[in-house]
Amino acid sequence: MPRPIQATIHTAALQHNLARARAAAGDARVWAIVKANAYGHGIERVFDGLRAADGFALLDLDEAARVRALGWRGPVLLLEGVFEQRDLELCSRLDLWHTVHCDAQIDMLAIHKTNVPHRVFLKMNTGMNRLGFSPARYRSAWTRLNLLPQVDEISLITHFSDADGPRGIAEAMAVFNAITQDLPGERSVANSAATLRHTGDGPLANQVAGDWVRPGIAIYGSAPDFPAHSAADWDLQPAMTLAAKIIAVQDLQPGATVGYGSNFVADQAMRIGVVACGYADGYPRICPTGTPVLVDGVRSRTLGRVSMDMLAVDLAPVPHAGPGSSVTLWGRAANGAVLSIDEVAQQAGTVGYELMCALAQRVPTVVD
Ligand SMILES: *Cc1c(COP(=O)(O)O)cnc(C)c1O
Repeated sequence: MPRPIQATIHTAALQHNLARARAAAGDARVWAIVKANAYGHGIERVFDGLRAADGFALLDLDEAARVRALGWRGPVLLLEGVFEQRDLELCSRLDLWHTVHCDAQIDMLAIHKTNVPHRVFLKMNTGMNRLGFSPARYRSAWTRLNLLPQVDEISLITHFSDADGPRGIAEAMAVFNAITQDLPGERSVANSAATLRHTGDGPLANQVAGDWVRPGIAIYGSAPDFPAHSAADWDLQPAMTLAAKIIAVQDLQPGATVGYGSNFVADQAMRIGVVACGYADGYPRICPTGTPVLVDGVRSRTLGRVSMDMLAVDLAPVPHAGPGSSVTLWGRAANGAVLSIDEVAQQAGTVGYELMCALAQRVPTVVD
């Protein structure tokens, strides 16, 4: 028997979350962001749940090829564009739309041989200072692209640094609007946070939704702005459950300790469960005593240090639990109880994104 640990990808949750993003985005079309192997969920595993999207956006050419291999004939967008000249051949062959964020990518296009001109997304740097043309250089890049026979439609794109936080997007949106005002082409500016937080009734609502929104984290059921909002606040459902079983039980006397470093000391007699999940499965080692878990669907907590293959949980809230009981590390338990990945991520000092992306290869994963 394999180790009793399993991840489950929930097709119905992906469908629900995608519909939530679509509803927030008005008439805009929706890219499902499936970079980083669909945020650790697996592109092939999420495809059914996300096939109602209008397109798939990602970074790796390999991943784009996998989306095509699944039979997807609709739009596929490379969010960082191409990395070298020959990538453009694959763009032509697989009919990939690609971001253009720098002069070198325009140079490559200018010498690319293709019968079918490419749809490109010209990226503006509106303050993130990662990728994109500065506002001052954006229009000359547009003009240069527009003169190339290799280029078909030019869409306009930017990515916000603060859609999830107090600084917000008003400044960045104003810069983008000022520069692109009289340019033709479709617009795409909103990630999950912008789609959920900034497409409401405000004056910017329509501009933020644009022609395409780009939700990633929200479709996987994690809140982009936790703890300001939880996934439940946004009516998002976890798309991934990580669950394992209790493989041993220990009865502790007062003063007994748990795990490496004797980090946890029992101050009274207690029962603990040893769970077949550790940091080699992608569960963060840094999670302290008290990190929430569900034991048979009942909320409890971890105890002591997480080790490579195991961690310990408190059985006090679940006296009936024992070997074989199911422990949900994040996601949904059999009784319907939910433990958001965001709560676990918070204990680890990080965000849900990082935990889902770090689910280890060795964890057997099923789709339901
Ligand atoms: C990853 C990414 C997104 C999605 O971001 P979320 O915060 O996961 O919604 C959108 N746009 C670009 C350019 C990205 O790289």
